[in-house]
Amino acid sequence: MLIFESVSSLQQYLQENANKSIGFVPTMGALHNGHLSLIDASQKKCDLTVCSIFVNPTQFNKKEDLEKYPRNVEQDLRLLEQQRCDVVFLPTVEEMYDDYTFKEFDFGALGNVMEGEHRPGHFNGVANVIQRFFEIINPTYAFFGEKDFQQLAIVKALVNQLDSPTKIIGCPILREKTGLAMSSRNERLSKEERDEAKIIFELLSNIKLNYSRGSVEEMKTYFANNLAKSNKFQLEYFDIADGNTLQPLSDWSQSDYCVAFTAVNMGNVRLIDNITIFN
Ligand code: AMP
Repeated sequence: MLIFESVSSLQQYLQENANKSIGFVPTMGALHNGHLSLIDASQKKCDLTVCSIFVNPTQFNKKEDLEKYPRNVEQDLRLLEQQRCDVVFLPTVEEMYDDYTFKEFDFGALGNVMEGEHRPGHFNGVANVIQRFFEIINPTYAFFGEKDFQQLAIVKALVNQLDSPTKIIGCPILREKTGLAMSSRNERLSKEERDEAKIIFELLSNIKLNYSRGSVEEMKTYFANNLAKSNKFQLEYFDIADGNTLQPLSDWSQSDYCVAFTAVNMGNVRLIDNITIFN
């Protein structure tokens, strides 16, 4: 496994391998099996897999969140080596941004709801870091998890706006045995909290199973009321939206692709999850 810290050394290597298809998996490290499933998807599709580990400061709207973000590069490199990842790109903030001019992106309604509404500036930070990575790597394919469903939609919109040749592949959510969506942030939960957090997926699954028995509004109330039974959780949002436009639905008949989305705070750990109700 090759590890590059500079843009120039990575680009030189990629030029030497210009005949190969490149799969790119961007991560912020603290890797878990969800990340490794993206590497696996890339390895199945591409000749060469590049994984980046970069905690992107520009996508954090809260300083405290950036400071507390889990980092464990040594273990990450061990996992990537075991996974037989070909290339790891480990840039510093300066290496990424010293030669880069930030842009203001506009994703319209897609960027104004849910994560966009609750984390102002977040998607602009995501779009800039992805644009910068694509400019450096020019991947054939790039792999993103459906765990960050809205991010995946934004990246697809970004590629359209930039007229980029990179094809975006969405990959399914990997979950703990309890159903909790795997996340680097789970590391900051105690064992008991991790166990209790399974309720998020339980409620989402119950809604998927039983949605036809009630209205959209009733399902929202069901989620909020059941989560509120434990004072450990603070609900940031629960929305039922169209899976393409991400605009909220007030009636099941408004869409034939319906997804439930939530962000829940457990102490100061922010957990997001989603489930496709029907498609
Ligand atoms: P992050 O390191 O959190 O920025 O995530 C890097 C990539 O891994 C993103 O495309 C995420 O959507 C994806 N990812 C994170 N958690 C999971 C998961 N549980 N299952 C699948 N993909 C995931």
